[in-house]
Amino acid sequence: MRYLSTRGEAATADFQDVLAAGLARDGGLFAPASYPTIRPEEIRALPGCSYASAAERLIAPFVGEAIPGPELSSMITRSYASFRHPAVAPIVQVDDNLFVLELFHGPTLAFKDLAMQMLGPLMERALRAKGERACVVGATSGDTGAAAIEAFRGLDRVDVFILYPHERVSDIQRRQMTCVEAPNVHTIAIEGTFDDCQAIVKGLFNHHAFRDELKLCGVNSINWARVMLQTVYYFTSAAALGAPDRPVSFAVPTGNFGDVLAGWIARRMGLPIERLIVATNENDILVRAIETGRYEVRAVQPTQSPSMDIQVSSNFERLLFEACERDASSVRALMGNLAQNKRFDIGAGPLARIRAEFDAYRTDENETRAEIARTWRESGYLLDPHSAVAIHAARKALAHRPRTPVIALATAHPAKFPEAVEQAAGVRPQLPPHLADLRGRRERYDVLPNDQGEVERYIRARAHRAGASA
Ligand SMILES: *Cc1c(COP(=O)(O)O)cnc(C)c1O
Repeated sequence: MRYLSTRGEAATADFQDVLAAGLARDGGLFAPASYPTIRPEEIRALPGCSYASAAERLIAPFVGEAIPGPELSSMITRSYASFRHPAVAPIVQVDDNLFVLELFHGPTLAFKDLAMQMLGPLMERALRAKGERACVVGATSGDTGAAAIEAFRGLDRVDVFILYPHERVSDIQRRQMTCVEAPNVHTIAIEGTFDDCQAIVKGLFNHHAFRDELKLCGVNSINWARVMLQTVYYFTSAAALGAPDRPVSFAVPTGNFGDVLAGWIARRMGLPIERLIVATNENDILVRAIETGRYEVRAVQPTQSPSMDIQVSSNFERLLFEACERDASSVRALMGNLAQNKRFDIGAGPLARIRAEFDAYRTDENETRAEIARTWRESGYLLDPHSAVAIHAARKALAHRPRTPVIALATAHPAKFPEAVEQAAGVRPQLPPHLADLRGRRERYDVLPNDQGEVERYIRARAHRAGASA
């Protein structure tokens, strides 16, 4: 499989290049040259497969020749063995036609593990084959960082630098990143917002000399491999509810648009998804964009669901690329506008194409608390605030289309956000045993100003250079 940049000015790349690069050199995101088709009878067969074998079938066409089949198979099996539920991503019914897809059974209790646990081995393999080392650099609003650290800690060929917004992630999220004793892990608290962290990381990647010298790799949700790996649970959960013979909709709590984009790709691959429901908290740039056609960046509001406190949804560029019928020059123009004016207008044609598949709902802070309380009271099911945003949007969608089942993605375990959950539901969620002692562990991190140059100096001083070690 070849990959192209959404901005059309970078050379095409193969899976290994895309894996290592994150961003394309022209600042665009990689998209596969074409989407494979999964036949209806293959979807029907999924409920009889393990998660790992479903994943193997679904991602093999994107990986192509890059990894031999048996090796890919054993990498996948090992990656998903770290999950504490035999189904990996089970579904639970919480109301009429309303289902929760539990994506929090991995090591860091958030859905990012589903992709990251596999990304670590994929990158280590690619680096070993080339005899190289690399620096993974990522910005996190909380969960990506923990998932990346968990996936890359102790690997031989990778140093990990994670930037998170100082004092804007939950205590547990921070401890999952800072209480790690691995010499290749570096956690940096930036005096700024998540968008500032993301802007620094983008700046590092666009500083080509630095990027090449340090061999930077991106693991943010702009990394294609993550989006690809996230298509799997759309298929497995829809098939468990009767797809392809019964259409379903998905409600997806959204920040960077990576997860819901994976749903769009699953649909493109042949999964009959009726509606893709974009669920945001008060940081509602995507809801406004889909309602009005104007994508306009505003100040970030801190909420109970910090992993969605994002104003620039990077993966939206991939959807724009498709909605513009892959006309990279249109995407370049829109992104140029965004960089200059902090906004752009989606044209009428692309907007109509987006609205044909997506609905979007915003859930405010009071509604989030009320949803946690209601689902606990009515169904005895404890939601974390991100998942509550999805359930709330799902209920709105069901009011319009009561006959289509909605699967709401539960992206974090409630114990990751114990204060918010306890305040809303009156019960305190407990951490699973493997994390029960987290509060007692020693923290290790550095605070840096919101300044790309400072971050470059920090990384250069700590990275093991290519070739410096075996
Ligand atoms: C990252 C994250 C999201 C948002 O996912 P995107 O792919 O950025 O849209 C939602 N919920 C939780 C718990 C997350 O960690």
